[in-house]
Amino acid sequence: MAPEKDSDKVKVVVRIRPLSDREIHSSFKSVIITDELNCCLFIANPNGQDGEPPKVFTFDAVFGPDSKQMDVYNLAARPIVENVLEGYNGTIFAYGQTGTGKTFTMEGVRSVPELKGIIPNSFAHIFGHIAKAEDDKKFLVRVSYLEIYNEEVRDLIRQDQSVRLEVKERPDVGVYVKDLITHVVHNADEMDKIMNLGNKNRAIGSTNMNTHSSRSHAIFTITIECSEQGIDKKQHLRVGKLHLVDLAGSERQSKTGATGIRLKEASKINLSLSTLGNVISALVDGRSTHIPYRNSKLTRLLQDSLGGNSKTLMCANVGPAEYNYDESISTLRYSNRAK
Ligand code: ADP
Ligand code: MG
Repeated sequence: MAPEKDSDKVKVVVRIRPLSDREIHSSFKSVIITDELNCCLFIANPNGQDGEPPKVFTFDAVFGPDSKQMDVYNLAARPIVENVLEGYNGTIFAYGQTGTGKTFTMEGVRSVPELKGIIPNSFAHIFGHIAKAEDDKKFLVRVSYLEIYNEEVRDLIRQDQSVRLEVKERPDVGVYVKDLITHVVHNADEMDKIMNLGNKNRAIGSTNMNTHSSRSHAIFTITIECSEQGIDKKQHLRVGKLHLVDLAGSERQSKTGATGIRLKEASKINLSLSTLGNVISALVDGRSTHIPYRNSKLTRLLQDSLGGNSKTLMCANVGPAEYNYDESISTLRYSNRAK
């Protein structure tokens, strides 16, 4: 078998959400047609000239408006989690404009089993794997949950939410967040509780685009240690780390009417998202000698899980309605460039 190329370790998929009830009510039309079999989509410019052909974008996978959470998990996320269970690192990102389904894709609707997103499905997958493992394998699972807001790091699990954490580096452990709490968990339920506690603490600012618009990057990290006795009768330890990242909205600031502090936030969000794009495209390219991890907190923190033996999934979320056209095109271009 040919060795896996670095570009195979980064997958980019696109998910189109359905038109919302409000959009249907307002008679908005969808400008996107998906062709899941051929992993591509067509997007028509609502202000284009007559006869202007739709633009075509191709990805590793395309999930249309009727796609199921479990399909997204099985096709896109499962291979990354499998890899983490084998002792490698992995990162899953949800990227896109506010209101396009990032949180739906990552968390989903907790109370409805078939609407659970990637994060809770990964909990079930991980503990299902552990339950089936041979008795001589011992697992230790730990989780942490942090947020990067305005280039500041906050522990979403900690009692005192006013504490800002420092990003440090040591030759033996690499980049780490000082004093970040990690919880040992024994089952999917415990993980779920921690995720919920963290979600309650997430900073939510409202812009005039969407009241639930989020200005922060949330990183839920699962570390899985597995120790087992090798044929040499010695204990062997494997450690895999999975980062599940709900990125801040990618919308351009002009559209959100941001001023003052919001504008400052927006420029930091743009910096970390553009750095992330640069890092991923440099990794995919494979010829770059310099990967600009250091240019943002987000990429610095994820450095050990982007590139090398790690697998990365970028899920670009897109709204189908005509008024989203410009933002949709910019999301599609961003993610296409990542590949
Ligand atoms: P974001 O996190 O990108 O701001 P959300 O995940 O909050 O966006 O999604 C916005 C709205 O659209 C929510 O009400 C969500 O439930 C709904 N939604 C998003 N994606 C889908 C989907 N694939 N199927 C059904 N509803 C969706
Ligand atoms: Mg969200």
